[in-house]
Amino acid sequence: TKTPVTLLGLGAMGTALARAWLAAGHPLTVWNRTPSRAAALTAAGARAADSAATAVAANTLTVVCLLDDASVEETLNRTDLTGKDLVNLTTGTPAQARARAAWARERGARYLDGGIMAVPPMIGVPDAGAHILLSGSRELFDQHRQTLAVPAAATFVGEDAGFAALYDVALLSAMYGMFAGAAHAFALIRGEDIDPTKFAPLLADWLVAMAPAVHQTADQLRSGDYTKDVVSTLAMQVAGTPTFLTTAEEQGVSPELLTAYFTLMRRRLAEGSGEEDLTGVIDLLAR
Ligand code: NDP
Repeated sequence: TKTPVTLLGLGAMGTALARAWLAAGHPLTVWNRTPSRAAALTAAGARAADSAATAVAANTLTVVCLLDDASVEETLNRTDLTGKDLVNLTTGTPAQARARAAWARERGARYLDGGIMAVPPMIGVPDAGAHILLSGSRELFDQHRQTLAVPAAATFVGEDAGFAALYDVALLSAMYGMFAGAAHAFALIRGEDIDPTKFAPLLADWLVAMAPAVHQTADQLRSGDYTKDVVSTLAMQVAGTPTFLTTAEEQGVSPELLTAYFTLMRRRLAEGSGEEDLTGVIDLLAR
């Protein structure tokens, strides 16, 4: 028999999670502030509870996927969490996750905080690459590992409840850096007789080819030796930056997305780190 699940929050993500658990045969109790959003799910076999408190009372395992931490507080503050297993998949900061974990423990619940590394269409689709990062109670994770892995691959990242949120924000921050670079690249080619749909495959392949560089960065951070296995030195790379800035100027494109990073590279070079890789930039970011 499959573990029964209570799910609070039927937005775009909550609904996708609900469908995955239903499809996998888990008995599902749902609640949403706006009750009409539960209709399609009850037709598919879910039970709709008339309050969050009733929904939580129905099962031991409760998953919450609401807008933000304030809506979690508002939804759960009048529910009895004694003896419950609470998994909060609402996006928040590490500090919010840690505070919510302490709050749940005080109310007698085990707690896991999670970050969903996926968009709703990836949920419940095998091999779509969706991940749920979870941190907090290892006992809760071990007990419900299979249930939590139904919507997406579930990875436990530590007993510090803030770690899932920290990983989540770190991964998404790297994504925004990638989007920033892609935006600059598209801006450079725009205005020329270049089909962006012909350029995009080259860009995607290049980003994938460069992605493994993060392993070398990690290795250098761990060893503390930023010259280890360096292929392109900081000195060489800084010497190349005028080409990027002049090309932007020639194409009538603002260099603002590049200059933030180039400024850090130059500062690191000025500290006498020309033989290093780019890893020293990370030291400059730490306040
Ligand atoms: P939606 O905006 O689609 O849904 C928001 C949900 O929160 C609705 O169920 C809404 O209820 C509920 N809600 C908002 N405020 C309150 C409140 N004060 N009290 C009770 N319920 C409230 O968001 P998503 O489903 O897309 O996202 C949910 C969480 O999942 C977010 O934390 C988001 O960051 C995260 N996430 C989303 C991803 C995505 O691509 N969509 C990707 C990864 C994570 P109502 O229907 O009544 O408005």
